[in-house]
Parts: sequence; C-alpha cells; structure tokens
Amino acid sequence: LLDIKGINKFFGDRQVLNGIDLQVRRGEVIVILGPSGCGKSTLLRCLNGLEPVQGGNIQYRGQNLTEAGVNWRELRQHIGMVFQNYECFPHMTVIDNILLGPLKVQKRERPEALQQAEQLLDRVGLLDRKHDYPRQLSGGQKQRIAIVRALSMNPDIILFDEVTASLDPEMVREVLDVILGLAKQGMTMIIVTHEMGFAKSVGDRIVFMDQGKVCEAAAPEQFFTQPATERAQHFLNIFQ
Ligand code: ATP
Ligand code: MG
Repeated sequence: LLDIKGINKFFGDRQVLNGIDLQVRRGEVIVILGPSGCGKSTLLRCLNGLEPVQGGNIQYRGQNLTEAGVNWRELRQHIGMVFQNYECFPHMTVIDNILLGPLKVQKRERPEALQQAEQLLDRVGLLDRKHDYPRQLSGGQKQRIAIVRALSMNPDIILFDEVTASLDPEMVREVLDVILGLAKQGMTMIIVTHEMGFAKSVGDRIVFMDQGKVCEAAAPEQFFTQPATERAQHFLNIFQ
C-alpha cells in the first residue's frame, strides 16, 4: 500500500531522516519505536505531506508522493493522521466536528455521513455525547473523537503519533482499546507510541528508529525478546 524508499529529511543542515525504508502492506499494523528526537513524528509528517522530503521516494498505490504537484488535500482523505493533542474545533459540537470532513471536504450527503458518524461514535462509546462541545469531554474522550474524525473519511491508512502521550493514565486504556479494535478489523495503521505493552499486542511489525534511521524491523515477539541491535536493547531496558 505504501512503499517508502530512502527518505531523507533535513531541517536546515541538520539531517533528521537518513535513508528511511519501509513497506506497509494493506491490513498491516506497523509500530514505530525509538528514543525522543530520532525522527518518528517527522517521518509520519512526511507521509502526510506536512513536511517536504529532500530525497527518496514514497509510493502510495503506485503514485509517487515526492513529486511536485501532489494533491495532499485529496491524499489526506486516504492517509489520515491523529496527533498527540486533540484537534477539535471548540465552538462546534462533537457531531459537527466529525461531519466537517465528510461534508465540506468530501462533499458527501448529510444523511449518509451522519449515519456513518453515529455508527463510529457508537463504536467508541460516545454516541450519547454527540451534541456536547469538546470542552465538556475528557482528554481520552476527545482523543477518541479525533480517531472518529479520521475514520469518518474512510481512509486507507491511519497514522497515529503518540495519541495517548498527553492523557492521564486512566484514560490511556480507552484510547488504546479503540486502536486495538481497528487493528482487529484489518485497518492499516502506522503507530508511534511509547506504550510497550500496547506495541507488543497491536503491532504486526516493530520498526525501531534511532538518529533518523531504521535500526531494526522485526516481529514483536522477536523484537521484545531478542532485539538484534544494542541500541534497541538499551532502549528496551529503559522502558521495561
Ligand atoms: P519524540 O519521541 O520526542 O516525539 P521524535 O522521534 O518524534 O521525538 P521528531 O519530532 O521527529 O522526533 O524530531 C526529530 C528531530 O528533528 C529532532 O532533533 C527535532 O529537534 C528536529 N525537528 C523536528 N521538527 C523540527 C522543525 N520544525 N524545525 C527544526 N527541527 C525540527
Ligand atoms: Mg514525536
């Protein structure tokens, strides 16, 4: 579905991504781990067109996303992203926040979009909050709404960047459970997280990054029991 080859990314003269290769097959869940500053967020932002790359290729269903003139507005409907900080519009209700993309961007019919939005809200346990405003929700609830917003565009793939990092511990589980549910349904996802237990259970493949490179890519059982590189071992020692 996504074929990333040799991506380079610089901020000024500092190289932040250095020859990243990654293939994502349909239905696969990739978990990206790595120390702070190694380039995880930057990689996701490049895949979503939020940062230009300075070398390499990103093929999505045969289209090269590193060429000039790529329609990112269109592409972001297919490659969705959920960030660390919930990004709802404060002056709009939950349901209106969710319908914004389907109605304004995708120009879908309201009844059909509304029906889907309600189904998705029900799936994350928040249907009864559809007329609430974001400020009336907890962090975990807002983050589940952000996931529903991404899903409402019927994306091919969703990128998650530390979506539980700013949540109180008791709200982390409810958000991770939603993502686990999506994995079970076969959603293609790239997930950046620091939740090791979650990484182990949700990932088909763990990609460990360090200093802008993919250091190691392995099945979770392999990675968590016998990491091949010293850097990964060191990283796991800190987190476990
Ligand atoms: P964390 O786990 O802390 O979120 P990360 O792996 O997501 O870290 P990135 O946010 O991708 O790391 O940052 C990688 C490097 O790029 C860091 O050294 C960071 O300082 C630098 N960087 C990120 N964004 C910018 C920017 N807009 N301008 C300049 N440098 C940046
Ligand atoms: Mg980050």
